[in-house]
Amino acid sequence: MAIAGFQKVGVIGSGQMGSGIAQVCASFGLDVILVDIQQVQLDKAQKGILASLEKLESKVALPPGTNTKQIAARLSFQASLSALNSCDIVIEAVSENEALKTKIFRELDDITPKHCILASNTSSIPITRLATTTSRPDKVIGMHFMNPVPLMKLVEVIPGMTTDQEVTDRIIELAKGLGKEVSKSQDYPGFVVNRILMPMINEAFVALMENVASAEDIDKGMKLGTNQPMGPLTLADFIGLDTCLAIMKVLHEGLADPKYRPCPLLVKYVEAGYLGRKTGRGVYNYKV
Ligand code: NAD
Repeated sequence: MAIAGFQKVGVIGSGQMGSGIAQVCASFGLDVILVDIQQVQLDKAQKGILASLEKLESKVALPPGTNTKQIAARLSFQASLSALNSCDIVIEAVSENEALKTKIFRELDDITPKHCILASNTSSIPITRLATTTSRPDKVIGMHFMNPVPLMKLVEVIPGMTTDQEVTDRIIELAKGLGKEVSKSQDYPGFVVNRILMPMINEAFVALMENVASAEDIDKGMKLGTNQPMGPLTLADFIGLDTCLAIMKVLHEGLADPKYRPCPLLVKYVEAGYLGRKTGRGVYNYKV
């Protein structure tokens, strides 16, 4: 069953975000092809999606009238972008790296049918810049899901300067059809959510670096003192410290304001390979 005229969806990058986006699209009746260059990531995504669907099914939290088996049958896992040659929309969710995303958008422009909309789940990279690397800048848009995708309600929709109004309207309809709420943002670095969230996380690293308090006390203070579901350092581990750093760099460069300077301690964690939950170690230690 199509939503807003979209039936066949490609998702690129089967990490935390791509696997969640694929799961939600399949849960709402769309046919999904999930692509990653790493077979190990595809295998991990397939296992993770199945486990998540089973958990949701046991809590009667899947969309009515569906079950894990039906949803899983709508998902295909592929190692090559060429599998996306008949998609109505492709949602790109590879690592937060502009050169990588640009390369993928160019390839998608060659591979996908002319009517196909190219959306990016980027947290911060300008949509207008990605759009103008393709021959269809009117059909490129930001569709920014939140983590974890099956549970978080919001999708930030970011039309670039060249995006067609009809494309924006259809993406809003698609997001709502996937059970999400939409907030619209103009195409400025970090859009709205990360423009405000990331400086807070960055400041938590500054407080940790300056020994203002322990990681636990910083998190406890912000969690209980400002009524957030988790503290900023726990959240950073959840998002991925590499992603947080990449977003701070985009804010710093794109807005040319020193107030967005990435905290040196955050840089050091990333250089050490301590990227958060996904690597088993970030500010805190996790079992992998
Ligand atoms: P991740 O590191 O978990 O996954 C990235 C995936 O991209 C990996 O599986 C990697 O193998 C794959 N990849 C890299 N190069 C590729 C290529 N050439 N072709 C196909 N696959 C490739 O990252 P993530 O947290 O899922 O983030 C993905 C995107 O979503 C980023 O743009 C990020 O900014 C954005 N985002 C992240 C969050 C979050 O909380 N982590 C929230 C919203 C948006």
